Amino acid sequence: MGGKQGVIVQVDLAALDRNLSQVRASVGERQIIAVIKADAYGHGAVAIAHFLSERATVRVDMLAVATLPEAIALREAGIALPLLLLSGYRPAFANEVIAHRITPVIFDADHARSLRLAVQAMPRPTPVDVHIKIDTGMGRLGVAPDEAPAFIEAIMRQGGIRVAGILSHLSDADDLEFSRQQAAQIEKIRAGIPFPVRCHLANSVGIMQLDFTHFDAVRPGLALYGYLSTKQAASPSLTPVMQVTAPVLAVKTHPAGTPISYGRTYTTRRVSRIATIGIGYAAGYPRLLSNRGTMLAGGRRVPVVGRVCMDMTMIDVTDVPEIKPGDRVTVVGTERGTSLWADELAAQADSIAYELLCALGNNNAEARVHSEGAT
Ligand SMILES: *Cc1c(COP(=O)(O)O)cnc(C)c1O
Repeated sequence: MGGKQGVIVQVDLAALDRNLSQVRASVGERQIIAVIKADAYGHGAVAIAHFLSERATVRVDMLAVATLPEAIALREAGIALPLLLLSGYRPAFANEVIAHRITPVIFDADHARSLRLAVQAMPRPTPVDVHIKIDTGMGRLGVAPDEAPAFIEAIMRQGGIRVAGILSHLSDADDLEFSRQQAAQIEKIRAGIPFPVRCHLANSVGIMQLDFTHFDAVRPGLALYGYLSTKQAASPSLTPVMQVTAPVLAVKTHPAGTPISYGRTYTTRRVSRIATIGIGYAAGYPRLLSNRGTMLAGGRRVPVVGRVCMDMTMIDVTDVPEIKPGDRVTVVGTERGTSLWADELAAQADSIAYELLCALGNNNAEARVHSEGAT
């Protein structure tokens, strides 16, 4: 009966499959590197990886995670697809990278050296594939574009490592001109490399809206889960994958003038039916939604009243008289034709769909239910 206070997170794998087909339709035969970091943006990386490896209608070529423990967990769960490790690892763990057949993204000489030494120490040294990260505009990880040719040349010359790909990351996909400059830097580096490398730059927005970022492979994350983070209208072709519901713990009728929750930031203005819902910030429901959030109760939008508590949140159900204790309300999802999706809720909390999905999914990991039922 769910995790914290009975929250349930439903993950619709049929919707994921349709979103993946939309990615395929956008990029043709290019490779797809499905990004499942942060426990698949809260959707459960092992379950998503199994689905993508075994049952999706579209072929995925590689999976990407942020950290070494995430990659090892996937191998231990029996995932055989190539794994791209996006955010580095402690150089002392180079042996683990090799032992688990992980393809690391390399962005400095220390990692390259540790990997080369680990390969050379193998009984039968076999070169390890790596992808090289280029910093074209994030100021985060990556080799500077003008240092990249020498960096790649040195790695290939020293042996033990094979540069199989180069990548960068779009930092402002809403800015066409800046994105074009990022793509041009990748193009230029590729032109100077005397052997074939797989180039990749596009995240979800690049995939759906910027064809010039597609190169040889693409890295969809958010689009797989049904959203697109862009100032332009959300793509109607994507279907949100996660739905979150929470139980009604109590319903009370209060006279006008009754304060609700900590700090008395809300006072009833009329005779009000106030429902206490079993989800709060400990379960990833942002406290910023105090007096700002919306939930769906009985298929209607109702407001959050007062401050969000650690494990509970109050909503005003005066206009939904049928709501009673033991019912469930929708925190993210659709009810009787009315929808409230993570991007809208995120906007109410000054956040983004990525953060809401991670917070709600990963704080209720024990309450996730994966289904492939057609919707
Ligand atoms: C998270 C991430 C992605 C996926 O981005 P979306 O916007 O979710 O599609 C792609 N590439 C890298 C390097 C990332 O860290």
